[in-house]
Amino acid sequence: MSGETNPYESLREQIDDAATHLDVDDGVLERLKSPERMLETNLTFERDDGTLETVRAYRAQFNGDRGPYKGGIRYHPNVTRDEVKALSGWMVYKCAVVDVPYGGGKGGIAIDPADYSAAEIERVTRAFATELRPLIGPDRDVPAPDVNTGQREMNWIKDTYETLENTTAPGVITGKAPGSGGSAGRVEATGRSTMLAAREAFEWLDRDVDGATVAVQGYGNAGATAARLVDDLGMTVVAVSDSSGGIYDPDGLDTSAVTDHKAETGSVVGYPDTDTITNETLLTADVDLLVPAALENAIDADLAPEVDADVIVEAANGPLTPGADDVLTERDVVVVPDILANAGGVTVSYFEWVQNRQRFAWTEDRVVETLERIVTEAFDTLVETYDSASLPNLRTAAYIVGLTRVVEAYEAGGNWP
Ligand code: NAD
Repeated sequence: MSGETNPYESLREQIDDAATHLDVDDGVLERLKSPERMLETNLTFERDDGTLETVRAYRAQFNGDRGPYKGGIRYHPNVTRDEVKALSGWMVYKCAVVDVPYGGGKGGIAIDPADYSAAEIERVTRAFATELRPLIGPDRDVPAPDVNTGQREMNWIKDTYETLENTTAPGVITGKAPGSGGSAGRVEATGRSTMLAAREAFEWLDRDVDGATVAVQGYGNAGATAARLVDDLGMTVVAVSDSSGGIYDPDGLDTSAVTDHKAETGSVVGYPDTDTITNETLLTADVDLLVPAALENAIDADLAPEVDADVIVEAANGPLTPGADDVLTERDVVVVPDILANAGGVTVSYFEWVQNRQRFAWTEDRVVETLERIVTEAFDTLVETYDSASLPNLRTAAYIVGLTRVVEAYEAGGNWP
């Protein structure tokens, strides 16, 4: 994995690439490439032994022209200001591509949660929620889960916000547990849109999903669900990995059993009757479909020539550097970009927020059907845009669709003051 590519620079380059195909004023473009505001703060919380610890945390509100800022909160030791800025910008264009009425935001705390007890994670989460309180709200900025956060953290943030505001406001955050106002189908949503994007791409390319081989890098929320759902579709998942390494079985893995094994042991590695492989071997495995579902910059320009898959569906945000994109475009590898492929998470977050505002819960069937409609329509729009302007790749098409919608919203409102 390359640590050298700054994800914020990648985002700016992706927007610039799309803008060359559009007539966007330079001043407007600069606005749409930079965050509107950022919170950078220190959180001091008590360890279980009574000592105090201070950690760095961020929230970027990139653009709110289309609606409240929206985006997850990540707990990871490598969280930086620029990473959060990039992730918040990708959210703007992702929400626009699936046409949900949100802007983009993102947050993170630079910690490795594995080093802390659940009580310590709760204290640092509530400290962050307290810092976030003046910035967030159902109509202002609506956070969600991301790497190493989930329903538990979302419930704590909701509870802290509601306690301090002396109100009930479930729509202040999404990805909550069902009993706290969460939506049916939210946990699976990112993996589900990844599966739908893969299905649509294979249909577009006139390729059979039955028996197509798949490798998934990152067996967390997004990756494990995507693996299970492409398996259900008839594909054969032959390799998966997590931060401890990967496993390979040419006859196909039982994805649910691998999930159980990871839940019991903490890793996919060691799952019976499989070969242990490195993450690099996984990314270059001889498969039809590669799903990077871990972190940014998994594939750079040096690794891209070695990638064997014909189709890549990005469950993670920013898994390919712009250099890797150039190599893969040159090699005619079809890449379904993150801002469509993993948009299921934010789309079902949007459904959750709608349900919270209406105080009326949808059935899981309604969530699954509406998500499928939105993702397949967005894929069709992408392909139409790609075909109509002879663009280099689907990513450029996605940014053209997203950028056009954000520019429209900005220009309709105009600049003030
Ligand atoms: P997660 O914490 O549930 O899972 C991440 C997985 O990646 C873990 O299994 C971890 O071990 C693995 N991993 C970390 N570093 C790795 C490495 N170097 N090589 C291989 N595996 C590695 O996180 P998640 O929510 O599934 O998020 C994964 C990606 O999907 C991120 O890029 C995130 O931004 C993106 N995403 C998540 C959501 C969501 O709703 N959770 C929505 C949209 C996008």
